[in-house]
Amino acid sequence: IEIKTFSISTKPYCDIIDITDQVQEMIKESDIENGIVNIHVAGSTGGISTTEYEPGLVKTDIENFLEKIIPYDKDYAHHNTWGDHNGAGHLRSFLIGSSETFPVQNGKAILGTWQQIIYLEFDEKRRNRTIYCTIMGE
Ligand code: ZN
Repeated sequence: IEIKTFSISTKPYCDIIDITDQVQEMIKESDIENGIVNIHVAGSTGGISTTEYEPGLVKTDIENFLEKIIPYDKDYAHHNTWGDHNGAGHLRSFLIGSSETFPVQNGKAILGTWQQIIYLEFDEKRRNRTIYCTIMGE
C-alpha cells in the first residue's frame, strides 16, 4: 500500500478541476500495477467525483444543478454555530462525497474515454488542497 499526495490551488464557489493526470502520475510513480486507488480530499467543503470534463457540464450544468438544490445565498443553521458562512459548501461536499475509488490495471486507473476525475471546490474562499491517493494492490 502506498499513500501519495499532490496539491491544488482552488477558486471559491464550485471550481471544478480535472485531476486525472495527477492521479495517473501518482499511480505511475508507485510500484503497484494492479489493484485499486482511493482519491480523497481532507476537508469538509470539497468533493471528489467524475464527469466528462467539458465546458457545458463543468462551467454551467453542474453548477446550475447544485445551485438549484443547495444555493449559496441561504441561511443555514451551520452559520450560527461558528459564525462562518459556508453551510452550502458543507452540504455540497456531503452530497458529492470526499472520496472515490477506482480500479487500477496495468499501472493506470480505469476510466472511460470521456470520464475524468474531478475535484470540486465548494468553499467560499480560495483554498490550497491536498489530495490523497491511496494505492493498494501488487
Ligand atoms: Zn463551516
